[in-house]
Amino acid sequence: MQQLTKNTWLITGETNGRYPDANGLLVQGSERTVLIDAPLSLLGELESAFGGELPAPDFVVLSHCHEDHIPGLVHPLVSELPLWIHSGDAAGIQSLDGFMELFGMPEPRASRWRQIVQDRFHFRARPDAKIYQDGHAWDLGGVSVRALHTPGHTAGHCALRVEQSVSTGLPGSTGPPPTGSPVSAGLSESPGEQDVVFLADIDLSGFGPYYGDAASSLIEFERTLELAKDWTARWFVTGHHIAAVDQETFVARLAKYTLRISEREQQMLSFLGAPRTLTEMIEHRFIYRPGDQVEGADWIERRSITLHLERLSAAGIVRRIPADVAGGEERFVRA
Ligand SMILES: [Zn+2]
Repeated sequence: MQQLTKNTWLITGETNGRYPDANGLLVQGSERTVLIDAPLSLLGELESAFGGELPAPDFVVLSHCHEDHIPGLVHPLVSELPLWIHSGDAAGIQSLDGFMELFGMPEPRASRWRQIVQDRFHFRARPDAKIYQDGHAWDLGGVSVRALHTPGHTAGHCALRVEQSVSTGLPGSTGPPPTGSPVSAGLSESPGEQDVVFLADIDLSGFGPYYGDAASSLIEFERTLELAKDWTARWFVTGHHIAAVDQETFVARLAKYTLRISEREQQMLSFLGAPRTLTEMIEHRFIYRPGDQVEGADWIERRSITLHLERLSAAGIVRRIPADVAGGEERFVRA
């Protein structure tokens, strides 16, 4: 736990926010307190922190619906609180079937994953979850939290910007929440010196952007990263171990993180100097390293490579050789 500003705390777990743990944020206004994401660590050493070292939350906002950002929702001080999620990810928290559909896995991996999500990540359906859209703002009294829809990692992924109100001496004086405002508007206008942006799984890692689920989009992720370049704040907080970084570090890390996409694509293009099947590409590995033992790595490679191939084919950079011509299995080659 680390206090970032006078009213914002970073919640990190025992493994410093490394998966399967994650980072969360707690923001206390004069009227209400919000918990942003509910990682596993809420159930560990932080179990008793709420109401003691940390103010107890009044409601919860999820950045997106992935297993590592929701286990803490079963915490006794959190489980009955109102829960908010973006419309694009809402089905995932409303039922376990909806959650599974976000991933689109084949059997037998789907059944195994379904069990892990329940046993290890304490999935509990929240059909009562409230839905927010881009630009939604929660006024906490003297400070507000605003949703910035940043799709790509998931369809409903959002960054959440903690905005300090211009002090009028009155609690809750941030004015009505803007509706339908573009993502960029929330971050380019006169940034407050104490503002914090929770980036969630735009995680600035060396691994790079993750877009390996059925509900992921490479093209939308790239659009999101383009928008993020203009963001300014005192602190940027990632959903995993990097945690809180300043403006300069954010800019540098974001550039490297974004570059991972074109690095992967260049590696694919050089591999496609000769005609290759999708199976050969998966075995070669472009997302993970060949030796990485990652649960479901082949499936994630398949999903991610397919998104690149779709884009490269549409742009005429890669040519598809149909199965009957290629001799058994469809192949791809650099045009
Ligand atoms: Zn995620």
